[in-house]
Amino acid sequence: MKIHEYQAKEIFARYNIPVTHEILCYTADEVVAAAEELGYPAVVKAQVLTGGRGKAGGVKLVKNANEAREAAAKILGMDIKGYTVEKVLLAEGVKFHSEIYVGLTIDRNSKSVILMVSREGGVEIEDVAKENPDAILKFPIEADLGMPSFLARKMAFQLFDDFSLVKQAADIFQKLYKICFETDASLVEINPLVITDDNTLLALDGKMNFDDNALFRQPEIEKLFEPDENELKEILAKEKGLSYIKLDGNIGYMVNGAGLAMATMDMIKMYGGEPANFLDIGGSSNPQKVIDAMNLILSDENVKVVMINIFGGITRCDDVARGLLAALEQLNVKVPIVVRLSGTNAKEGLEILHGASLTVVESMTEAAKKAIELSKI
Ligand code: GDP
Ligand code: MN
Repeated sequence: MKIHEYQAKEIFARYNIPVTHEILCYTADEVVAAAEELGYPAVVKAQVLTGGRGKAGGVKLVKNANEAREAAAKILGMDIKGYTVEKVLLAEGVKFHSEIYVGLTIDRNSKSVILMVSREGGVEIEDVAKENPDAILKFPIEADLGMPSFLARKMAFQLFDDFSLVKQAADIFQKLYKICFETDASLVEINPLVITDDNTLLALDGKMNFDDNALFRQPEIEKLFEPDENELKEILAKEKGLSYIKLDGNIGYMVNGAGLAMATMDMIKMYGGEPANFLDIGGSSNPQKVIDAMNLILSDENVKVVMINIFGGITRCDDVARGLLAALEQLNVKVPIVVRLSGTNAKEGLEILHGASLTVVESMTEAAKKAIELSKI
């Protein structure tokens, strides 16, 4: 689960990490009022659950009310990597001379949390990681030891010579580690952490991801969840006993079992197609599940063809077939459907489907090839 910058910084502030003063706004009027309150220069920042807002034009420095209104009008409603900006943060504009990157994440190789820091923070950090990886220092944190001050300082000394900055950074590292630990975060990041002109460290940005499997014991964090349209669909699917994940292609598919879902995706890709989703109807089948699944797949406008690949074990092919017929009756299906049924009650299933307007094939390979062919028409 991801949260917005303003939410991450609220958590940082609760742990006394220095953050910019800021106000969340939904309209241009609110942005102007907030800027008048905090003073100029100020920064208008898109709040969307994706990074790279600066490069996309979603972060603008403004010097007066006119500029604030103009920036707000431009950024509100903007599309950033498929996310529509519905709210912005108006933050005090800060003068700084250096941008630091600080991140804590889980490193599966060392089986620990690692602290990553770099003097070359800012919007180019991904290029730094690619072209100059040595500029990013990495410190695995032993779980038994945690982050005592001597360790935090040792790491801070690798970044700064100035002892005042070392102390400030060490304090921030310890607090970030505490946040990471106490909130079950899988990522806590400040980029940039800036050195202001009066030599203090200040978090200008904040990013946090959480371990979904720990949310049951983090009710306060769970409340921060703001699902987007696709996540809402995924949640709805879960409630109906389906696992659904939207992807970017045009071949919608329905299978039973996660393994078969992966294999089907590989098969579609191998023959040059692009899956529109991952959809597992699970082990047991009842016709209603198939109707719900069809409904979900067809709610994606990109879907040009539906491929149904069932290997019946506990799932009975006749149940799936009944669900499919009901779905065809109830839903306005405009796209072709390719079906492969095998395993438990496949023969009965195929009899039920006889005469329906579907393409029935024998094997998974054939199903993938046919679906790809139909998706290109
Ligand atoms: P991101 O691009 O999504 O990571 O958004 P950031 O919040 O990191 O903002 C991008 C960049 O905008 C930062 O790296 C800074 O260089 C700049 N920026 C953000 N806030 C301020 C500010 O208060 N003052 C100034 N001068 N620049 C800022
Ligand atoms: Mn940033």
